[in-house]
Amino acid sequence: MVLNLKTSSVETREQRLGTIIGWDGTASKLADESAFSRGDCSGCGTKARRVCELEGPFTQGSVCSEQMVECQAGNIRDAVLIQHSPIGCGAGQVIYNSIYRNGLAMRGLPVQNIRFISTNLRERDMVYGGAEKLAEAIRLAVERHQPKAVFIATSCASGIIGDDIESVARTAESEFGIPIIPLHCEGFKSKHWSTGFDATQHGILRQIVRRNPEKRQDDLINVINLWGTDVFSPMLGELGLRVNYVVDMATVEELAQMSEARATVSFCYTLGTYLATALEQEFGVEQIKAPQPYGFAGTDAWLRELARVTGRGAQAEDYIAREHARVKPLLDELRPKLKGLKGYVATGSAYSHGLIGVLREIGVEVDGSLVFHHDPVYDSEDPRQDSLGHLIENYGDVRHFTVGNRQQYQFYNLLQRVKPDFIIIRHNGLAPLAARLGIPAIPLGDEHHALGYQGMVNLGESILAALQHRKFHKDIAKRVSLPYKQSWLAQKDPFALARAAS
Ligand code: SF4
Repeated sequence: MVLNLKTSSVETREQRLGTIIGWDGTASKLADESAFSRGDCSGCGTKARRVCELEGPFTQGSVCSEQMVECQAGNIRDAVLIQHSPIGCGAGQVIYNSIYRNGLAMRGLPVQNIRFISTNLRERDMVYGGAEKLAEAIRLAVERHQPKAVFIATSCASGIIGDDIESVARTAESEFGIPIIPLHCEGFKSKHWSTGFDATQHGILRQIVRRNPEKRQDDLINVINLWGTDVFSPMLGELGLRVNYVVDMATVEELAQMSEARATVSFCYTLGTYLATALEQEFGVEQIKAPQPYGFAGTDAWLRELARVTGRGAQAEDYIAREHARVKPLLDELRPKLKGLKGYVATGSAYSHGLIGVLREIGVEVDGSLVFHHDPVYDSEDPRQDSLGHLIENYGDVRHFTVGNRQQYQFYNLLQRVKPDFIIIRHNGLAPLAARLGIPAIPLGDEHHALGYQGMVNLGESILAALQHRKFHKDIAKRVSLPYKQSWLAQKDPFALARAAS
């Protein structure tokens, strides 16, 4: 698949990859229907969409692409994000500021607030246009913060009125002499928020990454991540490699030097698929095509592929052997304590594939998972990145594998069907519902917590810690009720409404 960086607007996930947000069945069936090595159900369309999708009659709550732009472009340390939107689109910035500050602290970077400006589009602007407000906001951003770049996030409102954001950005760019980067991320444009990751990365690729690098940094690896602790530096350091963390918490210069790096990796193919593929396509920076680094099987394969690409096979084998010897006794101690427990993973798509593998590696039963969308293929189209296929081949099937964009009313049925001892989440809004059912949640705020060899130990210890709260959650369940009608509470099929509507 050739990515088109010539246009200012990114192609959505559903256009490029056939992304779906509604599906229910076994993990193996979903893998069979997906476009990777396992099958090609072309019954649903001619381009990318190959998996038949369940479409619900309404959405109870979700997030949008624009919000993903907030938490990526808004977290670049020496840039400013302008939200060309009504003020309400910025409501999520409160939590994003807290996540950003925590992330900086965990990484040992100077703690600062996010720097964003909303153009606060109102009724008058919807009639007469908001271009002047946008130009003024760019001027304010430059005066207040002296940024190295300014990003402009579009919104449903600016998309509806059709403001000429490109012209405003180009004029400002020649006036201020820094990249002014429109990111086309109108919430209505894509049914899944992960298109917002791609919109940010598209803008960075077009206007920040150095196009004709004069040098190559052969020991530099781009690591596409969010705010997690620095687990990659020690791991890659064993191979004599340096880490260039992008996009969150990077500087504009760190983004610019991505084209000089030797290779690109990520902790999650959902996040990194677009940027890594485009860096390879445009600049020859090789994308590591291997399973994600979770569990023994994934981490071994990932390290070996990285070593092959960078010519560091001996160091990698030595490191792998040492880590196996170090971690195995720790896991032998943990497994008896975790025996008989059942976990449920409710996270982003590729990340869930990795976490289920880790849970099974440490002896925890998993027969259900909710992933917030599903990409039948990633942008590389390389079967070595088939994270769902890797899970099934190495750790077996998952009986109740659900794709759903985080609908609370469905989450109730999903948990009732599986009755787990705990859930693992990254989007904390799901935890209160689980708590009302007496189920403790492990919120993986640090997305690197379960990564690599040490990640198996970390996750095992977190499960034991979370289960200390079991009685507290049982007490909550005894005292609260859910706001749903009895007919829905008795419903066994989480997609009953979607099936009735189709
Ligand atoms: S961009 Fe659209 S969907 Fe996203 S927060 Fe704003 S109004 Fe809502």
